[in-house]
Amino acid sequence: MNYQVPRGTQDILPKDIRKWHRLEELIRQFCHVYNYDEIRTPIFEHTNVFKRGNDSSDMVNKEMYTFQLENSKTSLTLRPEGTAGVVRSFVENKLFGSADLPVKMYYVGPQFRHERPQKGRMRIFHQFGVEVIGAKSPMLDVETIALGWSFVSALGLKDMKVLINTLGDDASRDAYRTALKEHFKNDIDDMCADCKRRYEQNPLRILDCKVDHEKEIMKTAPKMQDYLNEESQAYFEEVLEGLDALGIPYEVDDRLVRGLDYYTHTVFEVVSVNKEMGAQSTVFAGGRYDGLVEYFGGPQGMSGIGWAMGLERLLIACEAEGISLDEEEGLDAYVLCLSPSVKKEALQVVSLLRANGYRSDTDYLGRSFKAQFKTVDRKKARIAILIGEDEVEKGEVTIKDTLHKTQQSVPFDDIIDSMDALFEEENEECTCGEENCTCGHHHHHEE
Ligand code: ATP
Ligand code: MG
Repeated sequence: MNYQVPRGTQDILPKDIRKWHRLEELIRQFCHVYNYDEIRTPIFEHTNVFKRGNDSSDMVNKEMYTFQLENSKTSLTLRPEGTAGVVRSFVENKLFGSADLPVKMYYVGPQFRHERPQKGRMRIFHQFGVEVIGAKSPMLDVETIALGWSFVSALGLKDMKVLINTLGDDASRDAYRTALKEHFKNDIDDMCADCKRRYEQNPLRILDCKVDHEKEIMKTAPKMQDYLNEESQAYFEEVLEGLDALGIPYEVDDRLVRGLDYYTHTVFEVVSVNKEMGAQSTVFAGGRYDGLVEYFGGPQGMSGIGWAMGLERLLIACEAEGISLDEEEGLDAYVLCLSPSVKKEALQVVSLLRANGYRSDTDYLGRSFKAQFKTVDRKKARIAILIGEDEVEKGEVTIKDTLHKTQQSVPFDDIIDSMDALFEEENEECTCGEENCTCGHHHHHEE
């Protein structure tokens, strides 16, 4: 028997959930402002959605969770990435017929890859990704990068760097591929097994090898830049000019090829250069894909651009830079039940508070007065409401404001009025001006 989480997976416990909520909130807020809508596709797809042609990537060849149920001929795969499913759905649902091209989408959810677990490399992890399909403009490449860049900037991340490259169009890439094969021809026998496979399937990916990357033959490899045709060169220059126009700093990295096979033209990785970050430093990465829509049976020549951000890695990057995302939110009120004989009344009070939007709780263990008061502290409850036999007899409760250190007796019927009065000051204090304010102030009156 094994009752532990599988290797490379983790529980996200209640104590850590706030930062996830905070991230998800910010993601939705950002995508809303950028006019991107969410798309939700299935967690598993037909295996051939991910395994296309003779794809050479490790992800497709070694890392997929593929299964087939007994008595079924259907091979299914837990999604290892978001793009393939989104493009499949774009075609299947004929979104290419939309009056408003391009279609701008985002997704958030789990991905599954059977790789060797390390810090920042999990078997189940979460991605936030965007896909913009149905238009080819260098300014869209810029827009998607800008969305991700301003998102990480808004979180407060400063040690970030954009690495960017171009793989050119099919013609440029074919010329480059031929040059690479020529270059590696005599050395491929001494290179790793993956490189041997890449040599046959997609020699570009040899440049992405983590085993052989120190070899001299790698350093002297021909550069993509020298094989770009004019059109591809011009496209790339426009992307860089767009980034300049928005003041997004970048570095052109002519070794950058990315792990997936479907990219054309722009590819990029946004990395954290913080020293605490460790080996897994890419926070989000992506590029343009010219051929995927057609591959799934959509119209010809419909291009897309997208990226995916690893949320676990994003959290590691935040931690490395000392950015905390989980300010604990205290309770508005804790109801102290001073005698077992009044537990029904205590329950009524706590349910009245909740019905009026006050985050509250009470004791269910019949603990001592002292123990319950400790809970008020521990849960950072602003208000303590005491209810005992005396109070019930008088039809009252005692309300203690822990912030202003005041105390008053309040008839049952006036509890909410008193709470509103105590919290009023705080509601007014909230001057952050944001419509969906997350500054931690209370907004009961809006509910
Ligand atoms: P790497 O070179 O790190 O393996 P990749 O090229 O496989 O990355 P993509 O498929 O482009 O990565 O995924 C985009 C982002 O998703 C990565 O930059 C990273 O932040 C995150 N990511 C990818 N694989 C994992 C994983 N196994 N665990 C956690 N995050 C991951
Ligand atoms: Mg990978």
